[in-house]
Amino acid sequence: MSNRTLIIGAGGVGNVVAFKCAMNSETFGDITLASRTVSKCDAISSNIKEKLGITLSTAKVDADSVDELIALIKDVDASIVINVALPYQDLTIMDACVSCGVDYLDTANYEHPDSAKFEYKEQWERDEIFAKSNIMGLLGSGFDPGATNVFCAYAQKHYFDEIHTIDILDCNDGDHGYPFATNFNPEINLREVSSNGRYWEKNAEGIGEWIETKPMEIKQVWDYPEIGKRDSYLLYHEEMESLVKHIKGLKRIRFFMTFGESYLTHMKCLENVGMLGIKEVSHKGMKIVPMEFLATLLPDPATLGVRTTGRTNIGIFAKGIKDGKEKTIYIYQITDHEKCYKEVLSQGVSYTTGVPAMIGAKLILEGKWQGKGVFNMEQFDPDPFMKEMNEQGLPWKILEM
Ligand code: NDP
Repeated sequence: MSNRTLIIGAGGVGNVVAFKCAMNSETFGDITLASRTVSKCDAISSNIKEKLGITLSTAKVDADSVDELIALIKDVDASIVINVALPYQDLTIMDACVSCGVDYLDTANYEHPDSAKFEYKEQWERDEIFAKSNIMGLLGSGFDPGATNVFCAYAQKHYFDEIHTIDILDCNDGDHGYPFATNFNPEINLREVSSNGRYWEKNAEGIGEWIETKPMEIKQVWDYPEIGKRDSYLLYHEEMESLVKHIKGLKRIRFFMTFGESYLTHMKCLENVGMLGIKEVSHKGMKIVPMEFLATLLPDPATLGVRTTGRTNIGIFAKGIKDGKEKTIYIYQITDHEKCYKEVLSQGVSYTTGVPAMIGAKLILEGKWQGKGVFNMEQFDPDPFMKEMNEQGLPWKILEM
């Protein structure tokens, strides 16, 4: 029997997932794209029809409402739900999947609109109910989290007896020509980069501790293969929370992202005047959230594709022991923004998120990644995922240093 796939969220990432699922329609079967604004789904669907000749169904849903979601999942009779709306909708969509007995996948951990926590707690708490309902939830199947977790699992499986340190390195060397814009949802992006940094390290007693830093406090220049040296700043990133549980022998894990001077100056200025606030303020008798208002003013990331040039390089730098000897490797993936636009009318950041979301869902539907409960990416065999990355537009490389 053919599968039926429900994609929720028609932003930059939703566009890529819809295209890529359509390109793999022998696995995904009938595809429905749903979002709050159905006209966005219709626009994506019409581009896919024009470029690939494949017809998608579209639907309107408010994914904050479990009842609306249940009705839609039942109506579509979905085999899987791919959640590429915002992190605020993770729990409602997970709960609707439990009610309907349908597998679930997302690309970002749940966040409460009023507090930026970046943790898996509430989603991991649903492990038991997912297992009891005989369904699988795959968390964080984007690039970082996502492909970076799989890179760590691949390093662990094929290159190390023990990995001691991991640095996840995210370099976007693209240029969209705007003075200031974010490459994915502005609100989620700015919450992430304006928060305190954090990394994990074992202390002298061998106990792992989270060490907190001020936003952008730690800067390091990394030399990105095929790109060059770039200023990179230590951030907290959610994949570290699951990797410290699953990677053997780990002593330290950190995450770095590149930012240019202009981006940081804009961000500091916006922060100083209160525009990054996530609490409501009163304005002429109305309640507004400054960050939400800022997101309305900034360019929609889904429209950046046509004007973005340059490349991304995201990877992991891992050190450890193999057969008693020290070893260092760098697994990375380069994506060209303009090539992405030619293929799926999107810039590279949405592309590098959407393709792994499609691959995770493909492996679930094909039965190659199976489990009952809630899982992070590194808990599965990395080999089929790495193979798909090479075949689906995200070829990777390994440097043994
Ligand atoms: P966008 O803002 O471009 O798109 C989000 C979409 O979700 C919009 O279509 C929006 O709806 C829809 N949406 C929002 N709220 C609701 C709701 N209540 N009900 C239904 N639909 C809703 O974001 P992106 O595409 O850039 O990002 C999508 C996700 O990908 C985010 O969760 C982001 O954190 C994640 N991400 C993950 C990365 C990774 O590597 N793991 C990297 C980049 C992003 P509407 O139709 O009204 O516009």
